Amino acid sequence: MCGTAMCGTAHARLDGVLAGGVSRELIGAPHPVLTTQTLPVDAADPLVVAGAADLLATMRRSHRCTGLSAPQIGLGWRLLSLDVSRHPRTRSCAGELVVANPRLVAASRWERVREGCLSVPGLTGEVSRATRITVRGEHPGSGTPVTVHADAFEARCLQHQLDHLDGVLFLDRVVGARAVHRTGRGSGATGDMTSYARVFRYV
Ligand SMILES: [Zn+2]
Repeated sequence: MCGTAMCGTAHARLDGVLAGGVSRELIGAPHPVLTTQTLPVDAADPLVVAGAADLLATMRRSHRCTGLSAPQIGLGWRLLSLDVSRHPRTRSCAGELVVANPRLVAASRWERVREGCLSVPGLTGEVSRATRITVRGEHPGSGTPVTVHADAFEARCLQHQLDHLDGVLFLDRVVGARAVHRTGRGSGATGDMTSYARVFRYV
């Protein structure tokens, strides 16, 4: 389970490195930035650090948000944020994270679970993902290496964000129309989700 003290420490660390970020508008499907492969970044570049701070500020703005990727705020960079500390299905918990150039280096024990996305409001889908993973990347600012071992919901959330960095949405991974569900929840990003879903024959 998530330890409150550990998550609190992570918050304080990020406030030092990534303070002053601005919350940006979330981009919704079918915007092309969400279906485009992102580019590696120089984690120490001040522009990248500013983008990382904005990603963190945007994630913190929404109480339902457990992770975001740079494309969701309009940046075509390999950069993700994560904070699953308040989610009921959380087991491992690294607290609040922002990782540059993340890559999946180990994955095992797949399971199929329903998930959603703030850039795809109103729909959820059943997606098979590994429940134990290792991700490596770099801290924005210092550029020092970071390794995250995650399981359960944190592992799912990390893989969901990694997919965003490859231009892949969860709708691209569901096994068919019967694995997609309407939630009736319209909040999240702006965007014409209905037309996007129609293109993929989900609704
Ligand atoms: Zn998403």
